[in-house]
Amino acid sequence: MMEKGRTHIVGAGLAGLSAALTSVEGGRAVTLYEGAQHAGGRCRSYFDSRLGCTIDNGNHLVLSGNRSVARYLKRAGAEDALEKAPEARFPFYDVESGERWEVVMNDGPVPTWIFDRNKRPKGVSLAEMLRAGRLLLAGDRHTVAELCGEEGLATERFLEPMAVAVVNLPPRLASAKLLRATALEAWRDGRLARPMFAPQGLGAALIEPALAALKEKGGDIQYGRLLSRLEQEDGRVTALHFVRGDAIKVGREDRVVLALPPHRLADILPDAQAPSESASILNAHFRLADPSALAGKPKLLGLTRSLTQWIFLKGDIVSLTVSAAEYIEGSTEKEKALLTRLWRESVAALGLPENTSYEAARLVREKRATFLQTPDNAARRPSQRTKLSNLFLAGDFVDTGLPATIEGAVRSGERAAQLAA
Ligand SMILES: Cc1cc2nc3c(=O)[nH]c(=O)nc-3n(C[C@H](O)[C@H](O)[C@H](O)COP(=O)(O)OP(=O)(O)OC[C@H]3O[C@@H](n4cnc5c(N)ncnc54)[C@H](O)[C@@H]3O)c2cc1C
Repeated sequence: MMEKGRTHIVGAGLAGLSAALTSVEGGRAVTLYEGAQHAGGRCRSYFDSRLGCTIDNGNHLVLSGNRSVARYLKRAGAEDALEKAPEARFPFYDVESGERWEVVMNDGPVPTWIFDRNKRPKGVSLAEMLRAGRLLLAGDRHTVAELCGEEGLATERFLEPMAVAVVNLPPRLASAKLLRATALEAWRDGRLARPMFAPQGLGAALIEPALAALKEKGGDIQYGRLLSRLEQEDGRVTALHFVRGDAIKVGREDRVVLALPPHRLADILPDAQAPSESASILNAHFRLADPSALAGKPKLLGLTRSLTQWIFLKGDIVSLTVSAAEYIEGSTEKEKALLTRLWRESVAALGLPENTSYEAARLVREKRATFLQTPDNAARRPSQRTKLSNLFLAGDFVDTGLPATIEGAVRSGERAAQLAA
């Protein structure tokens, strides 16, 4: 392979891994520097000693229309790592009334499902669904609630579960434009809105295959390399300095991609105007004493009028997600009270006998799960080019037009690599 120059990528989350895979595909030599001792960043698996098994730091919903994720998996040689649900079918349970329903999106570009009362959220009229469709008119300054209404069943049973899952904020705060971006890429056709599951966890599906593919293609991966500063001269980066280990000289033909979370980028490159506010996500993982109780239950279940928003089933683990946790009443309770409440909601939602118990539980709070995706912050996302000619930015917060998601992070990495090439 002819050496075209090296791409130095800092941060081995999905954005950095995606940049690295795209760069080696384009024939460039790559070094990936990661501050921690492992890759994956905010999307990782690890062994939890209390639960006695490997869990994901948080449940992640990926949809079949996430085309950058599909390209990423192809580059990693892991096209089959995610399992696609046979239909775009989303079961729901309302904790207060005990009602159940399913949202079933049809295949093809015309969303006929909204005309069928058995396929749209229970009790939501066609007129209310059409009002929710005003999301398509989203401008820069709109929140989801401003456009589509803060009250009403369509908001409670459709927009709210989607806004917290996609934009990590409730409709009154969430940028309508960012929710629309996902709607246009995925929900416009049921074939693109099928949920994708990682049966062996996020690490096995998204991180390990990428690392293996990179190594196989000659990529150099260095852990424990925490970037502390960039050296600059004549409008370009000339060296990378790390907290530990030697500085790295950046040659004339070399490029640098920073794929850091926004608060870290702000320390290294204050000019970049990385968003400073963030929103958290809370996940509770319960390991069941008797997993046979979960047989035949849906792998993904949405909840309304509850603290829990989504339940994911993985083997003998019941995992619950509370997105935008600081905006959800009750989520700041102490661990024991919170676990009791979340477990009670799961038992009811999954239709388990009331005395069903769990063997072990773990609560994980990711304080900076995503940047705060309000219209203001969404309008101020940094571009992927910088003032320095050989420096490019990647990460879920840069201006891809997509929300801060796996798809957004992966796409930002692809683009940064393409710009750098
Ligand atoms: C609990 C939770 C649930 C989520 N749910 C979903 C979901 O359902 N669907 C979805 O699509 N998305 C979801 N997300 C968002 C998704 O995980 C992120 O958008 C994505 O992982 C961000 O990737 P990234 O590469 O941009 O950043 P990061 O993953 O943060 O990667 C940045 C990397 O840089 C490293 N680093 C930091 N500082 C330095 C430094 N100075 N030097 C070297 N390395 C450094 C970090 O260690 C890290 O590995 C969720 C996130 C969380 C936390």
